[in-house]
Amino acid sequence: MFAEIEKNNHEQVIYCSDKGAGLKAIIAIHDTTLGPAIGGTRMWNYTTEEEAFKDALRLSKQMTYKSAVTGLNLGGGKAIIMGDPKKDKNELLFRTFGKFVNGLGGRYITAEDVGTDVKDMEYVRMETKYVTGISKALGGSGNPSTVTAFGVFVGMKASAHKKWGSDSLKGKKIAIQGVGSVGRYLSEYLYAEGAELYIADIDEERIHSALHTVKARVVSPEEIYDVDCDIFSPNALGSVINDETIQRFKCEIIAGGANSQLEEDEKHGQLLKEKGILFAPDYVINAGGLINVANELEGYRQDRAMKQAEAIYGILQNIYSISDEQNIPTIAAANHIAEERLDKIGKMKHIYSTNNK
Ligand code: NAD
Repeated sequence: MFAEIEKNNHEQVIYCSDKGAGLKAIIAIHDTTLGPAIGGTRMWNYTTEEEAFKDALRLSKQMTYKSAVTGLNLGGGKAIIMGDPKKDKNELLFRTFGKFVNGLGGRYITAEDVGTDVKDMEYVRMETKYVTGISKALGGSGNPSTVTAFGVFVGMKASAHKKWGSDSLKGKKIAIQGVGSVGRYLSEYLYAEGAELYIADIDEERIHSALHTVKARVVSPEEIYDVDCDIFSPNALGSVINDETIQRFKCEIIAGGANSQLEEDEKHGQLLKEKGILFAPDYVINAGGLINVANELEGYRQDRAMKQAEAIYGILQNIYSISDEQNIPTIAAANHIAEERLDKIGKMKHIYSTNNK
């Protein structure tokens, strides 16, 4: 375990166990150079403890990069609760988890993630103030998906500008994979802009709801990769950009809200570059969710969160310039910006603390 923890310089991994509450959780704090580690709590039925441990490490590192590249003064962390979100959720479980979060004294701030929701976070809030994503009624920011979708929309426009010299999406053919919380709001922004939409979802209900507010052609989940489109927008699963799908894409841009879209960052980032497909790095274009919960720490206002999410446009432009200048994939350029900021601020803090001794 220590070898895994050292590999990506994680600062701390905490195992939380309470038999009475049925809690088995892992909190991974990757890096607090820029500020307290923030990141959601994922509840998932992992088949092995090792799988949960590795997911906590991978996801917490991603949060460090997301905060760093977005310019937030926050670090990266993530929590995993092992269990079935459909069967194992209850007040005691989340309040017990909240006590563990509280014990970290603010080094880690949690939020909702896959398998957890606003209500769960409100139980956590009963035991700690180090939680975001609680309901608007309680002074929180509620569901972050609107701001995430807006950030994806803005990022798509920045990508269009880079590719076609104009950020208008009018008349562009856009294939949306997944019309859940993020995909649905995104489709509404795109429809209002005059884009031609193709949508796919494994859940018929979600398709029906989406069609209440937008006009779109429905394609099967399997066919969405083959749509002859300008932009492919993944808003469902991870690892959808892989050896097989790269052969099938007919788009010029990939820009969507899903996390971990590239099956292998280096390999598939490079393959997209070679194919001339502009890839909007996932953790940058979907940073609206993080921006939203970070806003809650300062007293939530949605207009301010939306305004801050607009910055995703400029951040992506910068990433695309660096990718061109250094002839590297866009994901590598994003990593480079994040690492440089962490390095600079880390050194500044080190000098400052040494001078004060
Ligand atoms: P969600 O569960 O509301 O929506 C996901 C949708 O994808 C569902 O409608 C589901 O039926 C559909 N789906 C699942 N498998 C599919 C498949 N094979 N083909 C087509 N559709 C499929 O989740 P969400 O909150 O909208 O998040 C979507 C993605 O964005 C996730 O990867 C999430 O981690 C990421 N993300 C979300 C936020 C946020 O604010 N919600 C923030 C950052 C990143």
